[in-house]
Amino acid sequence: MNSHSVRSHIRESTRALETCHMPRQGPVVRADAPAPPPFRLASRQTRQETTVVNAGGVAIGAGRLVVMAGPCSVESRPQIRDTARRVKAAGADMLRGGAYKPRTSPYEFQGLGRKALEWLAEAREETGLPVVTEVLNQDDVDVVAQHADLLQVGARNMQNYALLRKLATVEKPVLLKRGPSATIQEWLLAAEYLLSGGNPNVVLCERGIRTFETAMRNTLDLAAVALVKELSHLPVIVDPSHATGKRSLVPPMARAAAAVGCDGLLIEVHPRPDEALSDGAQSLDLAAFGALMSDLRSEAKVACA
Ligand code: PEP
Ligand code: MN
Repeated sequence: MNSHSVRSHIRESTRALETCHMPRQGPVVRADAPAPPPFRLASRQTRQETTVVNAGGVAIGAGRLVVMAGPCSVESRPQIRDTARRVKAAGADMLRGGAYKPRTSPYEFQGLGRKALEWLAEAREETGLPVVTEVLNQDDVDVVAQHADLLQVGARNMQNYALLRKLATVEKPVLLKRGPSATIQEWLLAAEYLLSGGNPNVVLCERGIRTFETAMRNTLDLAAVALVKELSHLPVIVDPSHATGKRSLVPPMARAAAAVGCDGLLIEVHPRPDEALSDGAQSLDLAAFGALMSDLRSEAKVACA
């Protein structure tokens, strides 16, 4: 190469470099700007205001604490009917009840399936309370969506991506529980499967995580609730029943969750907890639930005054 062609080669290369790496127009990215989070659609960087999810007419994320209450499992028509009427009278906004149960042991009560879904729908007709219930696998999504107003993905299924992809295509909102060992990022990326698949109506639920502590069923991670409210625009609710496994801890943890700023609570209530077919030890009876509701509502009044 002679000196002329060397100079022109350098000029060409410099121009090419400028076009590739130094655009004269367009956004300037500061070297110290934080990288966007991998959970793009769930991030508050994408949407600043909290998403309000409508579950059968109840607004979750609108600034009012939404209380979902009912038994761990639907056990009979009178049991769910009676519980629905009484939690409604105590001020609950939604009815919970498991039809398909994810039990740790295959020898434990597995739920009454379709029959229980029908009883839940009847209880909604009678009380007006929208229903939240768990869907365990893809094949049940359609039938659960026909009966329920909010479809729960249980903690054990948080990373069941086939189930999440299917739930992304339904019209109903989804309650996504945090996996017992899931990091906050994994939880928000699981939500991302629902959002990116086309379902914008996602509510997150902190239900306790597994730690070294064995004195309680799980460890309630309330800091995660505050952090997720910062990181994401999705509403976040708290389940103090599965988080503690112990009835006496449910009211204080429910009040603490409300103080942290969660958007709602999911609470197990049974008319006779000692006879419950699942999770009796962590279920409130109706008197205890009534007392908790009046505490929560009067604390909210104080906070609003
Ligand atoms: C439930 O809500 O009854 C339940 C099984 O919850 P989790 O998935 O949080 O264990
Ligand atoms: Mn339960």
